[in-house]
Amino acid sequence: MTERIERRRGLSPVSAKVLAGERITPDEAVTLLETESLSALGMMADLVRRRMHTDGIVTYIIDRNVNYTNVCNAFCTFCAFYRQPGHDEGYVLPIEDIEKKIAETYELGGNQILLQGGHNPKLKIDYYEDLFRRLKQRFPDLWLHALSAPEVIHIHKVSRLTVAETLKRLRAAGLDSLPGGGAEILVDDVRKRLMKNKASGQEWLDVHEDAHRVGMRSTATMMFGHIESRADRVEHMRMLRELQDRTGGFTAFIGWTFQPGNTELGGQEATTAEYLRTMAVARIFLDNIRNIQASWVTQGSKVGAASLAFGVNDMGSTMIEENVVSAAGTVNHMNEPEIVAAVRDAGFIPMRRNMLYERLGAPN
Ligand code: SF4
Repeated sequence: MTERIERRRGLSPVSAKVLAGERITPDEAVTLLETESLSALGMMADLVRRRMHTDGIVTYIIDRNVNYTNVCNAFCTFCAFYRQPGHDEGYVLPIEDIEKKIAETYELGGNQILLQGGHNPKLKIDYYEDLFRRLKQRFPDLWLHALSAPEVIHIHKVSRLTVAETLKRLRAAGLDSLPGGGAEILVDDVRKRLMKNKASGQEWLDVHEDAHRVGMRSTATMMFGHIESRADRVEHMRMLRELQDRTGGFTAFIGWTFQPGNTELGGQEATTAEYLRTMAVARIFLDNIRNIQASWVTQGSKVGAASLAFGVNDMGSTMIEENVVSAAGTVNHMNEPEIVAAVRDAGFIPMRRNMLYERLGAPN
């Protein structure tokens, strides 16, 4: 079948497979990423997206990133956000401040927060249990999308619990889903060169698999455009695809480019073309992850909207607050009307959603 399409249209074998709706191999994904034109990648990714999302809807969520602490002992060279333990700019947010931020999010029509922070050696599991219980008591329908897999690993170590026990207790206290942060590139050769004291690629995958097994959903992420090769990016996606084949627990994939400002690693940011190429290949390769999210926070609103033609079907969050990317000097904002306008300009229908990608209706 594929060969017939290929002969008839003069396509490369891998492009013919994509058009025929067949799964491509990691080697084929590397070939696409390295050799295919940007426009051809966009057309193929757009076709794949249209097959999965037939109604022209692009979703977004109203939520807020809350960073409960910036104290961290993982020492990632790509991070401009953290302060090492004992630093006078280190903080742990008072719970009243977190509650105030959540109340502001409700006023804007959202009921989810993405709660993440550093690996603070002073915060053990009882801190998180108390925090989650109190937040759920005050805001009963709050959706807590909280704690990256490396934070869960950190909590299990400082609390002397197993990962499974840690997840179980956090869930009982109110954790609803796990954000995909901390994945960066899951290939350990790359991780070892980027960070001193953080979960391995396999540990990241195991936490998500454990979370999926106990009924929690999570997202998958990739931070690229630093020291990794294109083959490393595809290897990262292969690991995600294999886990998703086993559990089906990822709701979305979110890729963004490393922001070098104020970081120890430094260097140049990946180009817009590289961002779009990578997102297009992600849409094609990750055939079992239904949603691909734009990163307008790193790319700006215009490239974020343009990515909708490269396989992306979700504009992410209104991100009422963001502290990690902005610490690297990259500051982009989009409120709900701006997201809605960008989606319509790109020829799609905007729709609010929740973390599970259930549709909540048209914008007000
Ligand atoms: S990326 Fe996260 S784990 Fe790494 S230093 Fe920054 S806050 Fe810590």
